[in-house]
Amino acid sequence: MNERDAKFAEIARVLREHNKFAVLSHVRPDGDALGSTLALTLSLKELGKEVKAWNEDGMLEKYNFLAKAELLTTPPSSPEDFDVGIALDTAVQNRLGTTLAAVRSAKLWINIDHHPSNPRYGDLVYIDPTAPATGQILYEFLKNQKFPITPAIAENLYAAISTDTGSFQYPNTTMRTFQIAAELVECGVDVGRVSQLLYESFPRRRIELLRELLGTMHFACDGKLAWFSLSQTAAVALGVLPEDNEGLIDHLRAIRGVVVAIFFEELTDGKVRVSMRSKDEAVDVCAICKEFGGGGHILAAGARVAGALSEVEKKIVEKACAAIERNT
Ligand code: AMP
Ligand code: MN
Ligand code: MN
Repeated sequence: MNERDAKFAEIARVLREHNKFAVLSHVRPDGDALGSTLALTLSLKELGKEVKAWNEDGMLEKYNFLAKAELLTTPPSSPEDFDVGIALDTAVQNRLGTTLAAVRSAKLWINIDHHPSNPRYGDLVYIDPTAPATGQILYEFLKNQKFPITPAIAENLYAAISTDTGSFQYPNTTMRTFQIAAELVECGVDVGRVSQLLYESFPRRRIELLRELLGTMHFACDGKLAWFSLSQTAAVALGVLPEDNEGLIDHLRAIRGVVVAIFFEELTDGKVRVSMRSKDEAVDVCAICKEFGGGGHILAAGARVAGALSEVEKKIVEKACAAIERNT
C-alpha cells in the first residue's frame, strides 16, 4: 500500500470507529471550503454518524444552491463535545475562526488540506499540495475507502473542484482533475446547471463593485503588476457582502503582461485583506504573504495586514515589484 492509501486507511478507520463529528473550514469560505465541508458531512451522515457542519460565516448566499446547503451553519454560542474535529481546506488552524471555540473537546483532530504552507496541525494529517482543491483529495479519499458518494455529495465535490481550479483552467488542473470531474458527472452532476449557478448568477451588486474597483486600478513594473482597492467607504456605499469579491481579482490576472495581481480590501478592524495572484511560478506570492503573516499557494495567496489602506498598498506593492524584478 502506498503512503497515501495508508494514510487514507488510517483516517477512514478513525471515521468509522467514532460517532460524533464536527466538520469545519476556513473563515471567508470559498466554494472549496463549503463544498468540501458538505461533501464529507453528507458521506458521514450516510454512514449513520452524528455530524455538525460549521463555518464562521455560515452558508453564503451564493452557494445556497448546493445540495443540502442547509446542513452547514454558523457555530452555536455554547460549545459542544465531539469525538473527532475535522479541519478542511484550512491553511492555519486559527483560520477556523469561531468554529474552533465551538468545539469544546475532541478526542482527535483531522487536518485535510492542499495548502503547501499548512503547518500540519492536528493528530491525523493529510496534506497534498499538488491537489488543486481539497474537494479533489476528498473525492480520492471517499472513493479509495469506499465511503458513500451520493449525487448530492458529487455535486458538492464538483463545485469545490470547479471553483478552486477557476473552472478547470488554473495550472493546478491535472489530467486526474478531469478524470474525477468525469466520474462526478457519472455520479449525477448536471454540469450546465451547476456552472450557471456558480458563474452566471451573480447579484448586480457584484458587478457594481467591479466597476468601483476598476476605477482604482493601477499598474507598475512595466505592466507586470496590477492592483485595485476597496475602501470601507465604498464597500458601505455599495452595500457589498464579503462574498461578492471572490474571483474579481481574476480580471486583473487576465490582463496580458500582468504577472502579479493584488486586491486590497480595507476591513473594519484596522486591517487590510490582501489577496494576491501570480501567473508565473518564479514569482511566489505565498512567500510575500508569509512575510506579512499570511499564506496560501505559490500562485494564489493572502494575508491580513494591520495598517491604513494606503500604507499597506505601498508596502505590498514594493515587495511585489521587487519579487517581479528579481525573478522575471
Ligand atoms: P484569497 O486571495 O482569499 O482567495 O486566498 C488565496 C489563497 O491564500 C487561499 O488558498 C487562502 O487559503 C490563502 N490565504 C488567504 N488569506 C490567508 C491568510 N490570512 N493566511 C493564510 N492563508 C491565506
Ligand atoms: Mn479555500
Ligand atoms: Mn482550496
